[in-house]
Amino acid sequence: MSIKALSADILIVGAGMAGLSAAAHLHNKGYQVLVVEKSRGVGGRLASRRIGQATFDHGAQFMTVRYPRFASAVAQWQQIGVVQEWFTSTLPGNKAHVRWCGYPSMSAVAKDLAKGTAVTFEQRVVFLEQRDNDWLVSMASGEMISATALLLTPPVPQTLALFNASSIFLPTGTMKRLSSLTYDRCIAVLAVLNGPSAIPIPGCIAPSQNPISWMADNQQKGISKVPAVTIHADASFSYEHWDLDRQKSGSILLSSAQPWLSSKVIDFQVHGWKYAKPKQIHKDPSLTISLSPPCILAGDAFAGPRVEGAARSGWAAAEALENLIRNH
Ligand SMILES: Cc1cc2nc3c(=O)[nH]c(=O)nc-3n(C[C@H](O)[C@H](O)[C@H](O)COP(=O)(O)OP(=O)(O)OC[C@H]3O[C@@H](n4cnc5c(N)ncnc54)[C@H](O)[C@@H]3O)c2cc1C
Repeated sequence: MSIKALSADILIVGAGMAGLSAAAHLHNKGYQVLVVEKSRGVGGRLASRRIGQATFDHGAQFMTVRYPRFASAVAQWQQIGVVQEWFTSTLPGNKAHVRWCGYPSMSAVAKDLAKGTAVTFEQRVVFLEQRDNDWLVSMASGEMISATALLLTPPVPQTLALFNASSIFLPTGTMKRLSSLTYDRCIAVLAVLNGPSAIPIPGCIAPSQNPISWMADNQQKGISKVPAVTIHADASFSYEHWDLDRQKSGSILLSSAQPWLSSKVIDFQVHGWKYAKPKQIHKDPSLTISLSPPCILAGDAFAGPRVEGAARSGWAAAEALENLIRNH
């Protein structure tokens, strides 16, 4: 949708799990919320893609549940068919959590969360101006939105770059803590096969030697009509090959994956996740940058490097914003 209002009670930057969880919470509390997203759809790292008849989850592969609020959200999604149980892990070294996957793909979860919330796409936030009573937020398109309160959910290095471009200076201690939050990269290959893969039941494997950290058969998973395999390179391969030719890196990964493919690759695409998973987690689930006008940071780097962590951070930020707005 295009931006209709040039003002909002609460402007949320980023339509990933953290931003959308916060948006749904605040929308239900009666706030006028607008989410601004630079890409063409919702989900962020909860991402799905199609190549012809093949469907791939190429970011987050599944969700696990550790806390009651997320358990109840997953139970509701299961009831309406937005998630289904994929498997309970028997992989060595992994805890026996149920692995839930979105249906018809992981992005279904984000689409469900976004229902009822105003989200505007292909709008990259490039500048923030803190004024006496509100924030003025500028997009690369030249559009501007004023908001009483601001929630920023991009990966932390991107938020720091935005602060820097906006000449917003954080206290030294805060800056030091935020700058120490770094992320692993991940090069992902999405391969369409002309026959079934040799990936064992339930359709995934986490090889213990590099360069592959994870492979999933999206047809066995139940989301692709035709054989479609997602391959995730491990962090060191992804880092070393980041600036090299992506198709070449994809070909190296496909050669390494050969024992589990067993069929011919008829098409493939390569995607790079620069901020795949945070390596360190901030001590609190959200971070207040400004009390008045309010500005809060959230995302998986604040409550755990997974889908549930992003949701919990979004909820924590939403509750913190409610308190600040009440006292604003
Ligand atoms: C390859 C991979 C595999 C993973 N596997 C799993 C898994 O199996 N299980 C699991 O639980 N987790 C997994 N994760 C982690 C999980 O996907 C993340 O923890 C979670 O989705 C992060 O959500 P978020 O909202 O914090 O961030 P994001 O999803 O990154 O959302 C941030 C959003 O902000 C937008 N944005 C950024 N800058 C701007 C700007 N200037 N203006 C407007 N919009 C902007 C981005 O486009 C993005 O949509 C995986 C991640 C990756 C990459």
